Amino acid sequence: MYSKFDYEWRIFIVRSLMCYLVLSLILKSLSWFQTRSPSKAASMFSGTQEKCATCGKTAYPLEKVTVESQAYHKSCFKCSHGGCPITPSNYAALEGILYCKHHFAQLFKEKGSYNHLIKSASMKRAAAASVPEA
Ligand SMILES: [Zn+2]
Ligand SMILES: [Zn+2]
Repeated sequence: MYSKFDYEWRIFIVRSLMCYLVLSLILKSLSWFQTRSPSKAASMFSGTQEKCATCGKTAYPLEKVTVESQAYHKSCFKCSHGGCPITPSNYAALEGILYCKHHFAQLFKEKGSYNHLIKSASMKRAAAASVPEA
C-alpha cells in the first residue's frame, strides 16, 4: 500500500529528474555556443578567407578547399595551366595562382624564371575582370 506521501514523493523525484535533464541540456547548449562563437566570430572578421581566390565568389564550407589560409572552390582548385587536377598536398601556387607541379616546373624551365608565370597570371586575372556582364 502506498500512502499519499509516497505518491507525492515519487512525483517530486520525477519532477526533479526532469528539471535536472532540462538544465543539463541547457548547460550543454550554452557550452556549445561558448565553444562555437569564437570561431564563428573569427571567420566573420576574416571574411576574405571565405571567398574563392580563383573566381572571387563565396566558397561555402561544403564546396571549399582551404590551402595556406586561402579558400578555393573544389571546382576552382585546379591547375590554371590546363586544368589538371591537383590536391592540397600536391600543387604549386604563385601569387595566388595554382599550378600542378608538372606545369609549374615546365613553365619555369621554359622561361627560366617565374616572371612569365606572374605575367600570365595577372593577364588571366585582367581578362577575368573585363568579362562583360550579361
Ligand atoms: Zn571559385
Ligand atoms: Zn597542369
